[in-house]
Amino acid sequence: MSEKEPGNPFEEIQRKIEEAVREGRFHMMPIGPFGAKARGDDAEESRAEPSDEDSGPQEQDEILERIRSFNLKPREIRDYLNRYVIRQDEAKKVLSVAVCDHYNHVRQCMDNPELAQKDYHKQNIIILGPTGSGKTYLMRCIARLIGVPFVKADATKFSETGYVGADVEDLVRDLNRMAQGNTDLAQYGIIYIDEIDKIAAAQGLQGRDVSGRGVQINLLKLMEEAEVNLFSPTDMMSQMQAMMDVQGGGKPRRRTINTRHILFIVSGAFDRLAESVRKRIDTSTVGFGAPERGAGGAEEIFSYLHHVETQDFIKYGFEPEFIGRLPVRVSCDPLSAGDLAQILTSSEDNLLEQYRSDFRGYGIDFQVTPEAVKEIAIRAHREGTGARGLMTVFERVFRDFKFELPSTAIRSFEVTSDTVVAPRESLLALLKENQHLQRGVLKADIEAFQERFYQQSALEIEFDETACEALMDLCVESDRSMRSLCESLFKDFGHGLGIVARNTQNSSFRLGREYVDNPDRALSKLVTESFSPKREDSGT
Ligand code: ADP
Repeated sequence: MSEKEPGNPFEEIQRKIEEAVREGRFHMMPIGPFGAKARGDDAEESRAEPSDEDSGPQEQDEILERIRSFNLKPREIRDYLNRYVIRQDEAKKVLSVAVCDHYNHVRQCMDNPELAQKDYHKQNIIILGPTGSGKTYLMRCIARLIGVPFVKADATKFSETGYVGADVEDLVRDLNRMAQGNTDLAQYGIIYIDEIDKIAAAQGLQGRDVSGRGVQINLLKLMEEAEVNLFSPTDMMSQMQAMMDVQGGGKPRRRTINTRHILFIVSGAFDRLAESVRKRIDTSTVGFGAPERGAGGAEEIFSYLHHVETQDFIKYGFEPEFIGRLPVRVSCDPLSAGDLAQILTSSEDNLLEQYRSDFRGYGIDFQVTPEAVKEIAIRAHREGTGARGLMTVFERVFRDFKFELPSTAIRSFEVTSDTVVAPRESLLALLKENQHLQRGVLKADIEAFQERFYQQSALEIEFDETACEALMDLCVESDRSMRSLCESLFKDFGHGLGIVARNTQNSSFRLGREYVDNPDRALSKLVTESFSPKREDSGT
């Protein structure tokens, strides 16, 4: 190859790896079974609740056994969802039935593989509804209940070719990673694709959006039935792994996953679609069958999503074949301020519990008054992001409490509506109320510093009352932790007092206020005097 025309860099790397493998100079960690975790861009997946993420082979076998003997009833799934998800009753019912049908079919196919070859219309699902209404949460809970791997991605990250942007088949590979390379388990997982409304190729303005259409067609093949290669053609690592497998003579492993038994869920807010359904209904049925027209508002429009029909989707820009592969359609309702309050008081694992557990990590407990819950819910609702608004409000309310309280003696506090309205002021009042306790905490911090100093230098230091008082005042004034304050004020004391100890044979020092007011000068004086015959005058 000439210098002017560099060859394909991948070919070059591939050639070098082949050489290295041949010569036995190259070893790689497996990225397949029980190797690498989900990729960074799927951060949400890493947080996914399904227990399989860190499950070992034994647990995975148990999950497979559970699928093989799947016997949940729709009501049982609905009851489980009721523990975590507020409202969305229709969605809970529809999803429970669809999931039971799907895994009953999977179970039958496991018992009788011939059945898998027969035509079966999969219960792929489309969930419509505003952001933060629980669409993803419902499916996460279901995946956790059954134990199957769960992967979520936004439809907007996919491109038609997969060379720029992600390839839809990556979803299946991600599922396999979530199952830690256990393809037997991955093939029964759940793939959740959000923001599907964004790839509807809007007609009108610039004609059809070709790339959105291409992604729909790729997804369609995947949802139907496809054999997905686990080694992505655009992923260098998996290519290398594939090569290692061939050349390293390792145990042959399955290289493809069939998507026949993967359950696909697509979702989106579909607010524009709601608007067009409203127009259709308003013009075709004057009143009859149309949703009640209330006072209006952004939320009301979503109620029209319950009336969406195939033609509405097609008009919106979906390919008929694509929407035809999504027979189960359901919509989630916007959550009211009352619903948000209910999440805090009655759904398991809600955000309040999470904050409780965060504070408990520092030995701190808190109570929330009913008025405070109401105020939080009202403010969260104003955010217009459904239950996600709760996170924003909690962060704002508790931010300073989380920073300050762990360094104080305060072990419990009450969150009132005042706390929610003016968190900073409430915190300052709380700190002031407990000021008398704070001196005790600071004193303990000083003692901890003295102890560390001894551990590091074998020299004993003890600050007298006046020095302790001065340190505490300085700590409060400078808004620093006692630890960092002492470490910076007395950073040379290990060395300086070491000299004094050698000169005087005395390794224990009682330090007065002058050591806090001007540590360098006081230490220099002590060191200088330790060289003079009048050593008795030193600060020991
Ligand atoms: P989206 O509808 O946009 O998919 P999510 O399901 O991701 O919203 O909701 C975000 C978070 O808000 C969830 O993880 C959950 O903690 C909370 N949440 C949302 N809806 C509900 C609900 N109906 N009941 C209880 N918690 C909910």
